[in-house]
Amino acid sequence: MVTFPVVDKLVRSGHRPRRDASYVNKNHNGYKINFLEDLRHISPYRPLTSINPSVFGEADWDTMSPKERDELLGRVYATLVRQVHREIPFYSDLYKGIDPSRVGDMDDVLGLPVLRKFSTRYSRGLREATGPNEGLLKPQGRNSFSLFHTTGSTGYAQIPIFYSEPWDLDIERHAVARVWRMLGITSEDNVYDCYNPTHVGGYMFPGVCQIIGSGHEFKPAEKQLEETAQRLRDARNSGYPFTVLLAIPSSSGDPLGRKGTNFLTLYDETMDVFGKGGIDKVFLVGSGITPELIERIEAEMRDVKVSGAYGTAEHRPLSFSPTEGPTTRVCKYNQQHLTYGPHFTYVGRDEGNRVVPITTPGQEGDVYTIALRDGTPFINYQTGDVATIVTDACDCGLTSPVIGNIRRKNMEEIAGIGCRYD
Ligand SMILES: [Zn+2]
Repeated sequence: MVTFPVVDKLVRSGHRPRRDASYVNKNHNGYKINFLEDLRHISPYRPLTSINPSVFGEADWDTMSPKERDELLGRVYATLVRQVHREIPFYSDLYKGIDPSRVGDMDDVLGLPVLRKFSTRYSRGLREATGPNEGLLKPQGRNSFSLFHTTGSTGYAQIPIFYSEPWDLDIERHAVARVWRMLGITSEDNVYDCYNPTHVGGYMFPGVCQIIGSGHEFKPAEKQLEETAQRLRDARNSGYPFTVLLAIPSSSGDPLGRKGTNFLTLYDETMDVFGKGGIDKVFLVGSGITPELIERIEAEMRDVKVSGAYGTAEHRPLSFSPTEGPTTRVCKYNQQHLTYGPHFTYVGRDEGNRVVPITTPGQEGDVYTIALRDGTPFINYQTGDVATIVTDACDCGLTSPVIGNIRRKNMEEIAGIGCRYD
């Protein structure tokens, strides 16, 4: 459930999201030289939105040394902490007794109180606090925000998230574009998108395609599987085929027994549109890719690059599996590299008044995030998902740890992962 009338209007009229021209007309190479420097000069006196969103599209984030990455992001998040302490009533209360001017690096930020959905004896949960009063999460003294809510499918109060546009959405679009470039998606590609455009995650993809320069088309909400399959075939016959498919991996169908539109059902229905000259890249966001699906991908789809990603209703991307690299790499399908910038993801153990990060391969813990936003950020947020650290030395060359077996502790609350659309 999303409260965002602006999106509905945009989608209905077929417009793409507005982009600030100043982000696009930069000389990419010229800018790249300065991007690290730009973050080093972030200070409490500069608003976060002075960071150019395209910074988070730089591939360097995935290959730089963890120490340098922590140093840069530590500065950004320390500035964020000062901003939320000053402007957001919920955080002013959560950080009572903490002097934000003493929060200077990543260690300080990770040592701040945990943000939980439900109250414990250590802290008041987001749902309980903001259910009756959405304003607690809104930055004070500023206006013009868009308001999204997390899904409320489990009957619990939804959590309101204020987005300051276009920056909050653009930083994520650039980060997803960075992931896509590593999957080989370019301006030559034509994307067919089965996600829900009224969901904050689905809303993002047209903007990502715009950054990449690729074509983009949404699956209309009312189209059933057979009509969607026909659209893919028609495009293939027209000479302008779709080359990239965005979809959830699989689903159990709807209450009427109709098959949902997802990667598995589309593949079964239209195998002929997959492969060379057709859909040769598939990007899957949703609950885990099942072992059966992985088996089919490996056995039947040699000409198709299939990649998974993980995000939550609150923020994205959090981790992804690139398609390139030696066969010995472990980052495949459900084993994914953490992404750093704009957000920060880590696995840890909740010890009540603090989180102890887990870095040892083989250990499982809760997934925590720092979601960078000028509107409502989440800092040391317990997502409700659990994951296992697989390794911090993958053969593909990316320097971030790989996590695996990502799952939701409360299986009834599955709607938070990806964007279901069937
Ligand atoms: Zn890897």
